Amino acid sequence: MHPRRLIVLSAPSGAGKTTVARYLLETIPGAVFSVSATTRPRRNGEIDGRDYHFLSREEFERKIAQGELVEYEEIFGNYYGTLRSATEDALRRGSVMIFDVDVKGALSLKRAYPDDTFLLFIAPPSLEELERRLRHRGTETEEQIRRRLERAAMEMSYRDQFDATIVNDDLARTLEQAQALVMEAISEH
Ligand code: ADP
Ligand code: 5GP
Repeated sequence: MHPRRLIVLSAPSGAGKTTVARYLLETIPGAVFSVSATTRPRRNGEIDGRDYHFLSREEFERKIAQGELVEYEEIFGNYYGTLRSATEDALRRGSVMIFDVDVKGALSLKRAYPDDTFLLFIAPPSLEELERRLRHRGTETEEQIRRRLERAAMEMSYRDQFDATIVNDDLARTLEQAQALVMEAISEH
């Protein structure tokens, strides 16, 4: 099978995508992160150009109009989108690229690059545990946590459309499974 080098992670907010993405970037040789564009405000510790390209609404809407995004969605009142140029550079170079996008973005990437994408869904053990992790992470207000939990149920309903799902219960096991699945997806066979 053709190696699938666009590795798309998707999950309800708080399920562990960022943790899995960081691990894959450390352990998969040559893997690079797809830095999305967003209009949401920067969180403490995030760096512009590394975690996201932080744009104003006007700048983002200009990119939409100029066709510079492979896909974009409006989530929790902010735009998020994948840059076409960075994705196509990675494909040309044959790099492994790790994406952290919402479920609809994942399916759009699959439509845009059907032979190159591997869709991996990270599920929380339960919605109660998801809530606990979001509170523990401490990066959102109560109102934002409530909206993320409401959206989680919708996102869970998409998991059957993914190539594989991992239930992120024990973190060490999750990381090991994710690495094994990705090594298999990117191998030439
Ligand atoms: P996401 O990127 O999907 O929003 P994060 O990777 O930020 O999620 O994880 C949300 C929180 O849960 C973080 O504080 C993270 O350290 C923690 N976490 C991730 N996986 C586990 C796990 N298996 N068990 C307990 N806590 C976890
Ligand atoms: P956060 O604000 O927690 O960083 O991200 C909120 C949601 O936006 C997450 O589900 C994340 O995966 C998603 N997201 C981040 N970048 C993109 C993107 O480029 N496209 C889409 N469709 N979703 C994205």
